[in-house]
Amino acid sequence: MSGLKIPLSALERGEHEVDITLPETGLRPQGAKALEIGLTRIQGRLSSVEPRFVFIGTLTGEYLRPCDRCLVATQVQFKLDVIWTFEQGPAPGLAEAVAESDDEGFADDESETVYFDGSELDLASQAWEELVLFAPSKTLCDEDCAGLCPQCGANRNSAPCNCGGEPPAVEFGNSGFSGLVNLFPDLDPKRSKE
Ligand SMILES: [Zn+2]
Ligand SMILES: [Zn+2]
Repeated sequence: MSGLKIPLSALERGEHEVDITLPETGLRPQGAKALEIGLTRIQGRLSSVEPRFVFIGTLTGEYLRPCDRCLVATQVQFKLDVIWTFEQGPAPGLAEAVAESDDEGFADDESETVYFDGSELDLASQAWEELVLFAPSKTLCDEDCAGLCPQCGANRNSAPCNCGGEPPAVEFGNSGFSGLVNLFPDLDPKRSKE
């Protein structure tokens, strides 16, 4: 058996321990955008709970991203507790799923079930989904990161820069408005009187 595709035969005794550490390339589906993560450890137990299979475990690792302000490589640790439910066979139609949830009050559980074909469970695609959901939208090396100087590009966390700092005043002559006046002379009261 390789990686995170678990053959159902591994569950003959009802349980299967998983403890795998993989680089991002071992998890990323073909064509998916890179998440910039380091090694991810997927640890837990897959159990057969007729008619389903349940994985209860933890994903640990770190996102490796440049700080949004100063671009320094920054590690954002994650430790995610996950419960994934799998069921073999085609997904039930919507009507069926609704009827079932009415009977058993399992609306949330039902919608979380992953249906699969064939004789193996793919934990990798579930792990990838969790990592996409949890990916930070912002990365800061520190809450108080001072960022780069917009003038000279120096990292203001390491030393104050010497460039004098203030951004140049915008010259009106180069502004978008003067360009508009050239395109539409009627906007300029001086020119429209002819
Ligand atoms: Zn920073
Ligand atoms: Zn500067």
